[in-house]
Amino acid sequence: AREQALRAATGPGATSDGHAVPLLANLGGPGEVKAALANGAEGVGLYRTEFLFLDRKQPPTGAEQETAYRAVLEAFPGGKVVVRTLDAGADKPLAFLPPQGEEPNPALGERGLRMFRVHPEVMAEQLDALARAAEGLPAQLQVMAPMVATVEEATWFTEACRARGLTSAGVMIEVPAAALRAGDLAAAVDFFSIGTNDLAQYTFAADRQVGALSALQDAWQPALLDLIASAVGEHGRPCGVCGEAAADPVLACVLVGLGVSTLSMSAPSLPAVRAGLAGHTLAQCRAAAEAARAQSTAAGARAAARAALPRLA
Ligand code: PEP
Ligand code: MG
Repeated sequence: AREQALRAATGPGATSDGHAVPLLANLGGPGEVKAALANGAEGVGLYRTEFLFLDRKQPPTGAEQETAYRAVLEAFPGGKVVVRTLDAGADKPLAFLPPQGEEPNPALGERGLRMFRVHPEVMAEQLDALARAAEGLPAQLQVMAPMVATVEEATWFTEACRARGLTSAGVMIEVPAAALRAGDLAAAVDFFSIGTNDLAQYTFAADRQVGALSALQDAWQPALLDLIASAVGEHGRPCGVCGEAAADPVLACVLVGLGVSTLSMSAPSLPAVRAGLAGHTLAQCRAAAEAARAQSTAAGARAAARAALPRLA
């Protein structure tokens, strides 16, 4: 029991019956690596590269980008590091990449991968810098695009990655269309990662920056759980979660029960999620997921899941 408690506190993520769920960190740059390692992150599930681009008049050079990417890759030898390409626009506007026209609804505008369709040279420079950063390192670099809605977008992105020798290319699922049609997208990508923050925003038509609508940003909403189940699907591609939902220990068990393969969160949340998983079997996680989805309200879903997970109740 002592050994089990120790593993629960520091070891790799797993259910009590040994189903591995790698626990990864969300970070915005090399400055956050230390906290990730201190909390036992097994890798990086979301490197938000836009922080390198924010608050500047000129974009960072390719060499500058390479240095920032390499610093994170070097910190996780043998571990997986998922780097998200620039997610500009909406809540993260960039001075040197303004939208082409006025956008009354920036969250529904030229953001994420859509910005790269307008400025492919910015994507080319970022992917080139990533390919150089990973050269000769043992880390497993995975590159993913934000705000993908269609198969054409996913294909365009993964082809650009493959042309540079980037062998693992995936997309975020944060638009309901992508969650509904993950099976079609699967043919174009190597992996998925669900961004529950934006997926909730677009599912409930509730701006994530409007605090008054926060109840509609609740990841326990059964409609969101249904979309997550649809995204995980039976397409055979690994599907992680890197939105805030992964940081809630009860919801983390439910996500694993829905078939999610990895969980990525801000570093301080890792220990509680690790302990929650270690206290339950995969079958209990599945039962909790089923019980939550059988409810019709967010509060009901949370209560039902809690009741099915005795160590977290
Ligand atoms: C998300 O949308 O859930 C996500 C992880 O990305 P971001 O919060 O950076 O938009
Ligand atoms: Mg997002």
